[in-house]
Amino acid sequence: MAYRYRCGECGFKTSWGTESQGERAQIAHYADRHPDLYPGGTVETNGKDPSGGIGCLGVLAVLFLLFVLAVSCSR
Ligand SMILES: [Zn+2]
Repeated sequence: MAYRYRCGECGFKTSWGTESQGERAQIAHYADRHPDLYPGGTVETNGKDPSGGIGCLGVLAVLFLLFVLAVSCSR
């Protein structure tokens, strides 16, 4: 699993690396470019995450259940 941090203030992105590497690069970028702001932005992940697939299926299952519920209620 690789992590990339994206700055919330400008278009800066760290290079792909470990979570702690990206976090350090993001904090260093904020200290350099946005010294008066608390480090923020978003984290991107790239890699095989088994929980990601299960999460997607979980959302589909919930949507399906809501659909079934809506159909059964409209009768
Ligand atoms: Zn920035």
